[in-house]
Amino acid sequence: MAGQEQRRRRHRVVLFPLPFQGHVTPMLQLAALLHSRGLAVTVLHTAFNAPDPARHPELAFVPIREALPDEVTCPGADIARQLLALNTACEAPFRDALASLLLLRGRRGQDQDQGAVACAVVDGQCYAAVDAAAQLGVPVVALRTDSAATFRTMLAFPRLRDAGYVPIKEEMLDELVPDLEPLRVRDLIRVDGSDADALCGFIARVAGAVRSSASGVVVNTFEGIEAPELAKIRRELSLPVFAVGPLHLLSRAPAEQTTLRAPDGGCLAWLDTRPPRSVLYVSLGSVATVGHAAFEEMAWGLAGSGVPFLWVVRPGLVAGGEEEAPPPLPDGFSEEIKNRGKIVTWAPQREVLAHAAIGAFWTHCGWNSTLESVCEGVPMLVQPCFADQTVNARYVTHVWGVGTEVGEVIERGIVAEAVAKVMVGEEGARMRERAHRLKMEASAATSLSIDSLIHYISSLPT
Ligand code: UDP
Repeated sequence: MAGQEQRRRRHRVVLFPLPFQGHVTPMLQLAALLHSRGLAVTVLHTAFNAPDPARHPELAFVPIREALPDEVTCPGADIARQLLALNTACEAPFRDALASLLLLRGRRGQDQDQGAVACAVVDGQCYAAVDAAAQLGVPVVALRTDSAATFRTMLAFPRLRDAGYVPIKEEMLDELVPDLEPLRVRDLIRVDGSDADALCGFIARVAGAVRSSASGVVVNTFEGIEAPELAKIRRELSLPVFAVGPLHLLSRAPAEQTTLRAPDGGCLAWLDTRPPRSVLYVSLGSVATVGHAAFEEMAWGLAGSGVPFLWVVRPGLVAGGEEEAPPPLPDGFSEEIKNRGKIVTWAPQREVLAHAAIGAFWTHCGWNSTLESVCEGVPMLVQPCFADQTVNARYVTHVWGVGTEVGEVIERGIVAEAVAKVMVGEEGARMRERAHRLKMEASAATSLSIDSLIHYISSLPT
């Protein structure tokens, strides 16, 4: 065993996450897993939203020297523009950093501690880095930080565009999308408006880089929830596809290792004082925004529901508002909910979802949040905002049956009704039962796919 481990440590894997919470987290979880299985790991990263190396003494961190334009770094920036600009800005610095690591090997020979680069694992949304690694002759595995279903929709985009399903047309919103059922047109990644061409181009490049440059694909999902989607991807791509999720369970990486913001742990003590399944947890993740009016309706809907809640109101949550401080709550709201609500700017979400007091999760359906909720058996109230969130929301409500929609329009009366439905209604109880079954499936997810990934990397020549 020791010999096997030593042999693997000569295999170095170079990882490159995109610098957003929902991307850094699964990449660092994968890094922890690969290292725990005996591989040497180097994380290349941007200076923007850089991970803290002190929290991962076992990994090597190397900053790339990117120069990011304001449209990437300014809070509240449009995500499509951010992704396009990031790809452009990271391409050359990523290539230089990876080339330097390859040279290091040449200088140091088969130094066991150093480990020769065997492959790169690159965020699948960073098509420029996927292509750059392949051009340097490094086998590159694309990490999908979204679901298998979302990845399928991205692969299908050229066909969807040719068939007129995207850019999205209002009159087609409720049509089922052939071969992607149960997704309707309204559930596809929203491509419309003035950015439609740019977004379509981005998705086409993401799919194109996987097809032309990747040697394999890693997806943070598990067969228990996405077996049919994984099977279809495997049929479509002639590449190994490893379903290595749920990464946060299998990697055992503590949540505080991967968070980019400091969580307010005080809310856990507050939850301790609450009866089982009595509290609604509300969070729209790290980047989604809502309009000022919707924010006020959320607040008054929560107040009107009569249900205790823990709400993450982070700086930047309200579009166009102050970026450094959380948005002010509506007048009179704090008084109204004094004994019933708790508001934090960032929560220790995984611990919150695992807390017995939590009854349901009002979520934007980011893939990490969705998986975390599934793994804790917590039913969901879904309010998808953009990108893959509509796909995830459809699976939550119509495939796994563990959630319901808040409503297309965020209005206080509708919110209060939806909250009551999931927290105290019979339908909520049925969702909770199904969520519990999914939790059992998630905890039974095996590391077989990780074993295959390790075997695959260890067999690569160095
Ligand atoms: N998260 C957290 N505290 C919060 C809100 C979010 O720790 O108050 C974490 C959450 O556990 C998840 C990640 O941030 O792992 C958000 O990722 P997700 O894919 O759900 O959404 P995104 O932020 O990418 O839209």
